[in-house]
Amino acid sequence: MSETLSDLELHIRKQLLRYAVSQAIFCPTCGGILDVRRAILTEGSARTGIACASCWESLLERMRERFGADRVTDVLTELSVTDGRELYRRARNRSLAEKPEGAC
Ligand SMILES: [Zn+2]
Repeated sequence: MSETLSDLELHIRKQLLRYAVSQAIFCPTCGGILDVRRAILTEGSARTGIACASCWESLLERMRERFGADRVTDVLTELSVTDGRELYRRARNRSLAEKPEGAC
């Protein structure tokens, strides 16, 4: 994900992820309830997918073992990956940065 997301891009990505999580409710791989702060949305030219962070990491690991890290990197560059962990960490860091000194 780009390091230079504008506030508008960040907002749109968060809303897209929230919508996808609300539509899926459960991780299609493990069946756990999806949490938007730990969900991963992938969008390619043909299909979209959603998963919880642990299933996503597990998938990436299996792909790296099978196809090699370079091929996985190539595949990921062809996809739009929205990682809730990163989006909400950015939002938290921004809100912390915006607080005046001495604020709780
Ligand atoms: Zn899962």
